[in-house]
Amino acid sequence: MHPRRPTRQVHVGTVAVGGGAPVSVQSMTTTKTADVEGTLAQIYALAGAGCDIVRCTCNEEEAAEGLARIVPRSPIPIVADIHFQHRLALAAMEAGVQALRLNPGNIRKPQHVQAVAREAGDRGLPIRIGVNAGSLDPEIAARHGGATPEALVESAMRELAYFREVGFEDVKISVKASSVPLMIDAYRLLADTTDHPLHLGVTEAGPPPQGLVKSVAGIGTLLAEGIGDTIRFSLTADPVEEVRAGRTLLEALGLRERRGLDLIACPSCGRAEVDVIRVARDAQAALEDRGIPLQVAVMGCVVNGPGEARDADLGIAAGRGKGHLFVKGHVVRVVPEGEMVAALTEEAERIVAEGVEGALAHAEAGAEAAAAADREELLASQGPDVNHAAERIARIREIGGDVTSD
Ligand code: SF4
Repeated sequence: MHPRRPTRQVHVGTVAVGGGAPVSVQSMTTTKTADVEGTLAQIYALAGAGCDIVRCTCNEEEAAEGLARIVPRSPIPIVADIHFQHRLALAAMEAGVQALRLNPGNIRKPQHVQAVAREAGDRGLPIRIGVNAGSLDPEIAARHGGATPEALVESAMRELAYFREVGFEDVKISVKASSVPLMIDAYRLLADTTDHPLHLGVTEAGPPPQGLVKSVAGIGTLLAEGIGDTIRFSLTADPVEEVRAGRTLLEALGLRERRGLDLIACPSCGRAEVDVIRVARDAQAALEDRGIPLQVAVMGCVVNGPGEARDADLGIAAGRGKGHLFVKGHVVRVVPEGEMVAALTEEAERIVAEGVEGALAHAEAGAEAAAAADREELLASQGPDVNHAAERIARIREIGGDVTSD
């Protein structure tokens, strides 16, 4: 293993990329971003599998509006993927995303690129310059005789120069290709050209096992050379598989630690009924020492918690003075708030001893009904829009105007 290449550091929400930070794992949702609940369920499944950063497409105004509802409830930072319409980048930032990905091959007018960079600069958000061999600017491709490593790097550096003209440098870069040798050569050249952090990927790698092998060959080779700060496996498969593969590669190369207890917690939002950070910390302390190999979720509210974390083995969601203990999304017990962590530990030990089926068999009669009643009561008292998403959506509609005029 070569030493890691020194780079600048950018922050995608709470996740540092480059500058010596652990190599992060990314994936992308496959749902329509306008489908808020479906997208959030997928994001929770990805976070549970070890995804650090997730990308969602922002390809239409409805997607930007969906992001305004998704971002406050996502457990991991969200990158909006933008193609063609720079106004959708502005709308995604209004929706609260933690970063953007722009494809220089698809947004070509420098004034549009710079309008986005200025706004990102004002908001302190990083941008990934995401060059793709398949959608390279035709003018650059023609000059280089195709999508060569030099052409891919030139496209990235030209976009970076536009950003620099408006004083924006909070940038990470990717130069993906579906050809592994091309992708390796392009990243090597890029690493020699700039000190910005690099996002690695073999694009359109295909279904496993071919897609896995190509991704490991390309990403693994570069990581072993010390190149790369964040990775994504682009598989034609459930994105959870991408994350598992990415994490496994990083663990195999000794770049990330192995996972034991997998505690996931919602980031908390306007619906939260407890101090999620404190409960998560207490739960971690209680469970970690026991070496319990489960995925456990701590969720701030009973309205959405069990649904968002339905793939977790076990979880607790906070209601008014109560905790809903759920196993694989099914409420098995309702306990007083002060007993939440103790109940969680007890249930975790039961799952280890008797399995998920055993825990579900011990579900208290009436727990689901009591939980449903608590959810209704909370929804009635908090209203449907505690995260002020409607206000953001109104502003997105102002920004949007006629997005087809880009
Ligand atoms: S408080 Fe509820 S809605 Fe908000 S992020 Fe947590 S679980 Fe989701």
